[in-house]
Amino acid sequence: MRDPAFGADRAGLSQALDALIAARGGTAAPAGGLADLPATLPATGLAPAQVLDLLAPIVLAGARDLGAPTAFAHMDPPTPWLTWAMGLWTKAYNQNLLHPDVAPVARDLESRVIDWLAPLFGMDGGHLTAGSTLANLTALWAARDLAGVTTVAASADAHLSIAKSAHLLGLEFIAVPVDARAALAVDALPQDLTRTALVLTAGTTATGAIDDLGLIGRAAWSHIDAAWAGPLRLSARHGALLDGIERADSIAISPHKWLFQPKDCGMILFRDSAAAHAAVSFNGAYLAAPNVGLQGSRGASAVPLLASLLAWGRDGLVDRLDRTMAAAADLTDRLDGDPRCHLWRRPESAIVLWRPAAGDSAGLRARLPVESASLTTLGDTTYLRHVAANPNADVDQVWAAIDHALDADA
Ligand SMILES: *Cc1c(COP(=O)(O)O)cnc(C)c1O
Repeated sequence: MRDPAFGADRAGLSQALDALIAARGGTAAPAGGLADLPATLPATGLAPAQVLDLLAPIVLAGARDLGAPTAFAHMDPPTPWLTWAMGLWTKAYNQNLLHPDVAPVARDLESRVIDWLAPLFGMDGGHLTAGSTLANLTALWAARDLAGVTTVAASADAHLSIAKSAHLLGLEFIAVPVDARAALAVDALPQDLTRTALVLTAGTTATGAIDDLGLIGRAAWSHIDAAWAGPLRLSARHGALLDGIERADSIAISPHKWLFQPKDCGMILFRDSAAAHAAVSFNGAYLAAPNVGLQGSRGASAVPLLASLLAWGRDGLVDRLDRTMAAAADLTDRLDGDPRCHLWRRPESAIVLWRPAAGDSAGLRARLPVESASLTTLGDTTYLRHVAANPNADVDQVWAAIDHALDADA
């Protein structure tokens, strides 16, 4: 007989679902804390129903709601409920993408999602990773072994995973200064790029700046870190911001950012994926197929993404992206029109930076709802930073909070 712990317990699953729905509706018990948990590993277990009762106030009620109307601070989006359902299905079957024989469907579904998305970026294939940190590392691994690069050049504002990858791969890292819009300063690029992988960022983490993609092709390998802004390519209104991206050798995108996916979902795309995958593959005696990329065992994170794309289509996805871009523009207009605020610049990819004309940014941020703003430093100046990753964000409410905090400061 099957151990019931491994069965589909309708009562238990319903209880878990009810707790989730109550938490989402704001009718759950108040948040609990770690003090409610045993400090040492318990010798005997609780009934699953008790575990759910114990954990719901901690895991659910204690979590930050990334879909709240004032959630406007980070690149972490709320996730569509269909992805939760797919998470349940995929975790129940625990398919391992490493093994074709135990993950027959999951591998095919990942290929299908890649087939849908890669051509939109001019790429011919790729695979999912746990995030763009790993996607960037995978790309630079391929660049080193296929193009013989010894150096990685990226802007000083590139994501730390680029310098980290160079370090791990034994490559020299050159941080190229940035220009006034915080994009890579083209004039400052080294002349000789014949042994260099050039990393251009499409949407820097700090400011959302998009490097000049006209530089693609200047180096032995051109990698685009589009972890944040890559999805904009699908938008008829904003896609031109990424013109030229199709000439890259590789592109990293984080679906767990602006494709509204649960973590961990990153993506590495290659223009010549057969060659790139061969370069980043290892064979093991126990493997029926080569292990492609950095991770060994990994889960079916393509399935929630596939379900989202099926449910929304390209139009539905773009509608949500465009809505977040419009929200960033709306907030920008309000900040720009208010003498109490210094806007840094108009945002390129839905990341808005500003500082109060009087008082300091950190002090002001402390008076805002914590989910509404983050802080970032450019040069010596600290700015408030808003990231429009939340299609439910209500700019009226975000602005009301800012307005109130500014008045309190005056
Ligand atoms: C978030 C981010 C990364 C890292 O991606 P993860 O998915 O968090 O690993 C890399 N580059 C840029 C520009 C990012 O914004």
